[in-house]
Amino acid sequence: MKSWNTPDHHIADTEHGTLILADDVTLVIADWEVTENAPDRDGRVYTSVRGWLVNGGGTGRVDDPYTEPIDAGRARLVRTELRGREPVTDRDVHIDYHSVGRPYPNTWDHRGCQVTVSWMDRRIDAHGRPIPDQAPALTSPALAVACPACGSRPGALCTSHSGTRTCRHDVHRARTAALAATG
Ligand SMILES: [Zn+2]
Repeated sequence: MKSWNTPDHHIADTEHGTLILADDVTLVIADWEVTENAPDRDGRVYTSVRGWLVNGGGTGRVDDPYTEPIDAGRARLVRTELRGREPVTDRDVHIDYHSVGRPYPNTWDHRGCQVTVSWMDRRIDAHGRPIPDQAPALTSPALAVACPACGSRPGALCTSHSGTRTCRHDVHRARTAALAATG
């Protein structure tokens, strides 16, 4: 991300990303970056995306009635659309605004406001392996069989992207069909 304190910081021609939130609220951010924090004591890894607010107004402060398009604080993220990154879906997120105050000089094409959206990305054990705690898919009966689609063993959650990502919310349809075939 560029330094904001320069006379040539324009966002019109920088990479824009979109975050779709519940109730059809859309945040458009420019010149965004993704930060992954070190795991906390319980192995929780928090991730955030920060960028210049393109479609907003107000300061984002809790007492500012003019904050748009969404208040600071808790929100529900439906989906991210960030070029080159896997979409993040269905997360409880926290929204923070950071106003850099009076834009100087006044030729900037934005309001001088950054927005940060952060969420708990995953939990890992001491070896860095993901802990799929409280994954809704863990209750799926299809876990009794191996998955023909991704090769997950019985009892293990499905994975995507060559096993690098755990499917916490559901299992592959082929797995459900495999379970039905055993009946
Ligand atoms: Zn699978």
